[in-house]
Amino acid sequence: MPPPRRYAFDTRVVHAGEAPDPSTGAHGVPIYQNATFAFRSYDQVEAFETGQVPHFVYGRYGNPTVRCFELKMADLDGAEAAAAGANGMAIIGATLLQLTAGGGHLVVSSDLYSVTNEVLATDLPNQGATVTHVDITDLVAVEAAIGPETRAIYTETFSNPHLRVADVDALGDLARRRGILLAVDNTFLSPALLRPLEHGADLVLHSATKYLSGTGQVLGGVVAGRRELVSPIARRLGRLGGALSPFAAWLLLAGIKTLPLRMERHSTSAARLAVLLDTHSAVATVNFPGLPDHTGFDAARRLTGGRCGGVLSFLLRGGPAAARAFVNGLRLCTVAVSLGESSTLVWPSVGDGLIRLAVGLEDPDDLADDVAAALARVEALRLSVPRETDL
Ligand code: PLP
Repeated sequence: MPPPRRYAFDTRVVHAGEAPDPSTGAHGVPIYQNATFAFRSYDQVEAFETGQVPHFVYGRYGNPTVRCFELKMADLDGAEAAAAGANGMAIIGATLLQLTAGGGHLVVSSDLYSVTNEVLATDLPNQGATVTHVDITDLVAVEAAIGPETRAIYTETFSNPHLRVADVDALGDLARRRGILLAVDNTFLSPALLRPLEHGADLVLHSATKYLSGTGQVLGGVVAGRRELVSPIARRLGRLGGALSPFAAWLLLAGIKTLPLRMERHSTSAARLAVLLDTHSAVATVNFPGLPDHTGFDAARRLTGGRCGGVLSFLLRGGPAAARAFVNGLRLCTVAVSLGESSTLVWPSVGDGLIRLAVGLEDPDDLADDVAAALARVEALRLSVPRETDL
């Protein structure tokens, strides 16, 4: 008999981890909104405790709705196991603490989500761990930072906020050669655009709050990889109380079904806005790996086929004053943190004027008009410094 057909990603994103409810036939995973799970007898408790029969026990350690989301994510990431958490930081915190249990050293990217950096700077030293930050695109520097105590390389695949591209293939080779792990936060891409475990990563983490949900109305997180790596992270999450709620898992299961369609649209709209910004005289630099002069262009092409997701960041030539005029000049885009939603979100870094645009699913012409009008407002204020070629 031929082996069962492995369905394509777009089919698995709909069906993996789900089946009609065995007791009611309900199509679509129900919300098991309960804290505890009943056992029939002492004997069933004993069979569970001795590992003979699996059973849900208590919501902090697992729940059927959450389990379906974990099974779907393990399938989509090509992993043996996945563990869900209350949000991306629950997952990142538990993973970083687990990687450095009892001490050790991590080599981490110098461009990471700010709260991940806070965990690295506060919680890890508190448990005796050390961290070296490196430019993750400089493989020589990454290798030089690895020492006898190093347990893992930690990076974001496309980084927040500067869109540095981690060459997961090369980093995976390096980690394997040096006998350490590679853990990557793939929030900016999702498994629809990149499945890092297929490129040599050992653990992949996501803030499910973002593209996996797509709604902007739920917080969640998930880590996937080999069972021997994921299980201790899941147990730690259970102890620390970082479980994903059944309602959140249900929302995530509903949202994720359209992930590939959404990622396609996010990617093409962001690419269009990146070109608009890059060719505008008010703009100094654009960070978007789909632009040919971006340092990660070739790696992004190889890793994601050139689809770069919906996030880009940029600096205006007029600095923070121009950033103020730009943000205040937008009508359609919402001024808010986060990304991966159907609405386009814009967030300025008040210190250096870096503007992050998390491009949504609106009509691309409407988005282009909104951004162009805000840029025109910047120019009207004559804040931009002339380019050399204009002089
Ligand atoms: N990782 C990245 C790259 C992020 O941008 C964020 C949040 O913005 C997180 C992790 C944290 O996820 P959450 O907000 O779900 O805790």
